[in-house]
Amino acid sequence: MKIIFLGAPGAGKGTQAELVAERASIPTISTGAIIREAIRTGTEMGMAAKAYTDAGNLVPDDVVIGIIQERLAQSDCENGYILDGFPRTVPQAEALDRMGIKIDVVLSIEVSDEAIVERMSGRRVCECGASYHTAYKPSADGKHCDKCGKELTIRRDDAPEVVRSRLKVYHETTEPLKSFYEAKGILKIVEGQEKVEDTTALVRAALGI
Ligand code: AMP
Repeated sequence: MKIIFLGAPGAGKGTQAELVAERASIPTISTGAIIREAIRTGTEMGMAAKAYTDAGNLVPDDVVIGIIQERLAQSDCENGYILDGFPRTVPQAEALDRMGIKIDVVLSIEVSDEAIVERMSGRRVCECGASYHTAYKPSADGKHCDKCGKELTIRRDDAPEVVRSRLKVYHETTEPLKSFYEAKGILKIVEGQEKVEDTTALVRAALGI
């Protein structure tokens, strides 16, 4: 099964994608996570991407399309995958079509902008990729990662002014993908709930898993 998770930054698509991936035994592919890892390790691509992500802007299409092409060619993608954070523009979606990839479902998780700004201020992340929230999904001690014990940090692009600019980018550039996939008859919409497990129940019902 090949699934795309759409949704504004902070709508909870990463969390839901991980849960569905585990249940369906397929990998989650997050271009944001790949880019952050490249920035952390200081690769050429990471250094080029940093200025865009720090400002809450999108990394150019050719760069992310290259990342996704390379990642989808790996053997763990043979039985399907979840794309979390890709495509984010119509040209990126068209690139997937050109690659001959047939997506089964596109799931859009919808949350209001006000709720997102409030949520993002509480997000805490770990270098290992784990993500927490001070109110909705705290780590055991609130400061360290439950998985690896490292200290949790706040993503630079979760600062409120950056969140607002990321939401603007989402509405202008990514939201048109809903019509793109609706026209293909594969779009499903889920209203994001306050509790992670309530959204998960809706996501599972929408996907029939
Ligand atoms: P995310 O973790 O998905 O919110 O992604 C973090 C940042 O990485 C975004 O704000 C963008 O700067 C960049 N990024 C991730 N995926 C894409 C994409 N498909 N197209 C362009 N930029 C992306």
